[in-house]
Amino acid sequence: MPDGTTTRQGRSIRDARGLVAAGLIPPGAEADAAQVAARYAVAITPHVAGLIGDASDPIGLQYIPDPAELVTAPGELDDPTADGPFTPVRGVVHRYPDRALLKPLLACPVYCRFCFRREVVGPDGGVLTEAELDAALAWFEGTPAVREAVLTGGDPFMLSARRLGAILARLGAVPHIETLRVHTRVPVADPGRVDGALVAALRGAGKPVFVAVHANHAREFAGPALEALARLADAGVVLLGQSVLLRGVNDSGGALEDLVRAMVRARVRPYYLHALDPAPGVGRFSVPDAKGVALVEGLRGKVPGFAVPVFVRESENGGGKKPVSA
Ligand SMILES: *Cc1c(COP(=O)(O)O)cnc(C)c1O
Ligand code: SF4
Repeated sequence: MPDGTTTRQGRSIRDARGLVAAGLIPPGAEADAAQVAARYAVAITPHVAGLIGDASDPIGLQYIPDPAELVTAPGELDDPTADGPFTPVRGVVHRYPDRALLKPLLACPVYCRFCFRREVVGPDGGVLTEAELDAALAWFEGTPAVREAVLTGGDPFMLSARRLGAILARLGAVPHIETLRVHTRVPVADPGRVDGALVAALRGAGKPVFVAVHANHAREFAGPALEALARLADAGVVLLGQSVLLRGVNDSGGALEDLVRAMVRARVRPYYLHALDPAPGVGRFSVPDAKGVALVEGLRGKVPGFAVPVFVRESENGGGKKPVSA
């Protein structure tokens, strides 16, 4: 088991029986949910469970398994962002000359039902061994064109502060690496993990640190999540927001405006709104491109310019993120 399989506030819900016990699905739905959970990881932290009213609300929809996930539609792909061909060593994805991803583990605090990496993320999948991590870090040291190391996964904030700190310190010591970035859902999914030790690990890198926080609904910015984000911002971390456009969660003008305003209040600068990647069984979240374009255009002028995210889609051929146009 990787670090962090229990949260700071207790045990996460990880199976169909737990969903029933928590009142998140009715007993009659347990068998279907168990089938989905056998295929795609399930986790709901106590913090997130406390935000869910029912399975159809914008928080519940993101995390509660649905039988529709077992049906893969034509055009849905196991590796929709085509990371495979851009992997020079295990755990690294190098698609753009000046920056590369490091995926030290594939565990997350919660498992989103629309995840584009759902075929590989999970509680016991994909932790790099010491030797693999060493080889990945050596690749960064030996690739001078790379100016930014982007830690993702899985969720790098699931590592212990000591382990994350060691990775960041080694990357931060590389002369050609100018900035570090971490993509995470932890501040809004398991905010207690953002403690003094984790903040110290970020500061210890000795280079500017950007943290891109994945959140999709204004209600994710409340209580302990706001405190966690404030601890990061107060430590000098630059916070960026990234979201996925999801039917039933944020696909209305009001929901999207509320989301970006909640980010700005938390000192999180909206960065990307991602079009849904066609991973297996995620079709129920799909929103037409034209609607997404109109929603983002509708924000312009209504909210501060820096609160308008860029609406992007990942190219299926591995060409990277491209702005979506109607
Ligand atoms: C998304 C991604 C990045 C980061 O891209 P930005 O546009 O800088 O946020 C870097 N490398 C890979 C392989 C990516 O998929
Ligand atoms: S946090 Fe990110 S990687 Fe993890 S399940 Fe959600 S979308 Fe996937």
